[in-house]
Amino acid sequence: MPKFDYDLFVIGAGSGGVRASRMAAQTGAKVAVAEERYLGGTCVNVGCVPKKLLVYASHYAEAFKEAEGFGWQVGERSFSWKNLIAKKDAEIARLNGIYRTLLDNAGVELVEGRGHLVDAHTVQVGDQTYSAKHILVAVGGWPDIPTFPGCEHAINSNAVFHLEEQPKRVLIVGGGYIAVEFAGIFNGMGSQVTQLYRGELFLRGFDADVRTHLRDEMIKKGVDLRFNMNVEKIEKTDNGLACLLTDGSTHTADVVFYATGRSALTQNLGLKEAGVDTNERGVVIVDEYSKTSADSVYAIGDVTDRINLTPVALHEGMALVETLFKNNPTKPKYDNVASAVFSQPACGSVGLAEHEAREKGFDVEVYRSAFKPMKHSLSGLEERTMMKIIVCKKTDKVLGIHMVGPDAGEIIQGFAVAMKVGVTKAQLDATIGIHPTSAEELVTMRTPVQG
Ligand code: NDP
Repeated sequence: MPKFDYDLFVIGAGSGGVRASRMAAQTGAKVAVAEERYLGGTCVNVGCVPKKLLVYASHYAEAFKEAEGFGWQVGERSFSWKNLIAKKDAEIARLNGIYRTLLDNAGVELVEGRGHLVDAHTVQVGDQTYSAKHILVAVGGWPDIPTFPGCEHAINSNAVFHLEEQPKRVLIVGGGYIAVEFAGIFNGMGSQVTQLYRGELFLRGFDADVRTHLRDEMIKKGVDLRFNMNVEKIEKTDNGLACLLTDGSTHTADVVFYATGRSALTQNLGLKEAGVDTNERGVVIVDEYSKTSADSVYAIGDVTDRINLTPVALHEGMALVETLFKNNPTKPKYDNVASAVFSQPACGSVGLAEHEAREKGFDVEVYRSAFKPMKHSLSGLEERTMMKIIVCKKTDKVLGIHMVGPDAGEIIQGFAVAMKVGVTKAQLDATIGIHPTSAEELVTMRTPVQG
């Protein structure tokens, strides 16, 4: 008789949980995963995937305008938010089905319901308990809205994907990934967008040139950006949601969307009972192998607040399977994780920002180029692209590559491979460009910027 019902019981069928359970099951382990909400987690249902679909949708207004510069006559057009949301929902339902099939084909048992730990080897779902040699907590996070008068009128990034109507006037609060992405989405769709950020300049932590370039481009596209500004109070009126701002003015909108960060979803999860420590924000504390303070309990993904990105959760899940089921202790690696912000224009980054490189004591050489992409010689758009390379003077190693412009995510993904293998500036210089592209600029910059 085996001592436990399962070798691995996973709580949460999001990106990390599904990957870890499938990979573990493929080694012959007996695996179950509990999910209370939707298969695929935030990324598939209310995150990366539907967001990218909305980004695509919102690009068309600009594309129609550009087309005229290339000789096309574009007739009358209209946009239906309802149609788009229905199509998006159908696509998400299809993906949910694929996740179910993937689990099924891998031999993972899906337990539908909310799982919580009873002790370090037992999970309860409904009135059933399941014992497991290892338990993996992969419950992810949940969007936060701060508490203030009228905050109940604000929506979060879960609700924004299910709005009945396209708001004519949107107020977006926050200066992170989600806020800038949705400012671009609603602006592209023709809503009047105001974005407030409490600090000097949004995207804190990103390279300064990325932040200023994106700011300038978003303003050009018509987003009303207001920095050093916040909401004090929201009141529902006949004319919409009247927001009292910190400068004493009132701004009225149809939708007030808060994108002010996310928290680990660890309430009532039984972590304490299982001996799993969390920090003051409820984040599960893990060691370099994703092990919690309880020897048999592990955690991956957003609930551990390391780098909160889907591909990182997948990587953590796969490293854990190596450790637990392949006799190959593996730490997830966090160097040179590339990421993109699907703002309009998009940002892509890999490696260190200039300020980070300097803070770490590198003597750096900076290469930067801002230009009007060839397409806009006819499109009529004034949008400019910015690219930047940060190089260690002593070793010639590339420390960071950043860009703001179309296809930033696609372009930076390729350069992330080069960074991973330690590319030098001389090697970038020795690479022959593909002409005419924007990306060739990254292998043709020869003169460092001064100062
Ligand atoms: P972020 O943590 O990126 O940004 C939160 C923003 O809200 C910051 O600008 C922060 O300001 C501001 N803020 C926090 N609290 C308040 C408050 N009380 N009042 C006003 N402003 C406040 O969170 P997001 O919600 O944008 O995204 C969550 C995470 O999801 C990201 O960190 C990212 O990891 C992931 N994500 C990744 C995407 C991608 O890869 N493309 C897309 C979307 C999300 P301050 O800077 O001053 O702290």
